[in-house]
Amino acid sequence: MVLWGCSILFKEVLKLKDVNKSYPSSAHEEILVLNQISLKLSSKGIYLILGPHGSGKSTLLRISGFLESPSSGSVAFAGRDLTEPESQERLNLIRNEIGFVPPYPSLLPYLTILENVMLPMVRKNKFKVLEILKSIGVENNGSYPHQISVEEQQRASIARAMVNDPHILLVDEPTSPLSETGANEIMHILRDLKKEYTIMIFTDDPLLSKYSDTVFKLHHGVLEKI
Ligand code: ADP
Ligand code: MG
Repeated sequence: MVLWGCSILFKEVLKLKDVNKSYPSSAHEEILVLNQISLKLSSKGIYLILGPHGSGKSTLLRISGFLESPSSGSVAFAGRDLTEPESQERLNLIRNEIGFVPPYPSLLPYLTILENVMLPMVRKNKFKVLEILKSIGVENNGSYPHQISVEEQQRASIARAMVNDPHILLVDEPTSPLSETGANEIMHILRDLKKEYTIMIFTDDPLLSKYSDTVFKLHHGVLEKI
């Protein structure tokens, strides 16, 4: 497999400290979605965040990827505290260091697979994209998403997250639209990629634990290492 991931090692890739997140639930009330979450990811590997629907997984993903700020607490990347929103440094970080794999379906239906995967690439390089697609087993790069299998779409979605050589891959429910066989295929790909990336997978499927180096349980917004 050709791996394009960046090889610089940070002592502390991602650090969340005492993160709380609440949203207004009515004019006068708020719901606490994330409750005092502290988390430190310092090496490559697969970190699984396991929790049922509504437990706060996608909220935690957005905060870990600097797409959203916590209500209180701090979020740092490679020792740089970037909790404050709207800084240029934070935008650069989102673009260059973090690869997002959103929940299915995430490919744009009116672009081919190749066009979808190239879309977020900062320095366009078709050769590199074709190599990435080949390395993770996507053959039909001229097809539109509806013309290929759901599993191949998920592979392409992972490829799209890799094009800017990020340090972290944040993967939201990668196996939820798939059969057990398809889910295992996708997890084999992520297992290969963990040599190059710090991968956070957010899922409600406990079967993914066997592919993971570290498993956390998220329950009502409380994170616990298991
Ligand atoms: P999961 O991904 O585990 O299903 P989410 O993080 O999507 O959980 O949601 C957790 C809780 O936070 C849910 O009750 C959801 O309604 C609420 N929530 C998430 N995002 C928002 C938002 N932008 N505004 C208000 N409530 C939200
Ligand atoms: Mg979710």
